[in-house]
Amino acid sequence: MAESIKVKVQCHACGNSIEGSAKYGSGHYVQQGVPFEFTAVGKFLKNGKKRIKGEVVCICPNCSVRNKYIV
Ligand SMILES: [Zn+2]
Repeated sequence: MAESIKVKVQCHACGNSIEGSAKYGSGHYVQQGVPFEFTAVGKFLKNGKKRIKGEVVCICPNCSVRNKYIV
């Protein structure tokens, strides 16, 4: 089952606000906003709910700089 993760970040280089979604797992997935590359690095509990911890990489649509974040 596919799980989508919404991300809202700011570009390291130009400060442009980047919004989009990344996918986790396989299956049907609809991309929204700026495409993000997602790599799961682990799981953690937040408010009693299981959340996935991962690394997202995206290309800024404004200046083409590659940005990396931990979500
Ligand atoms: Zn940028």
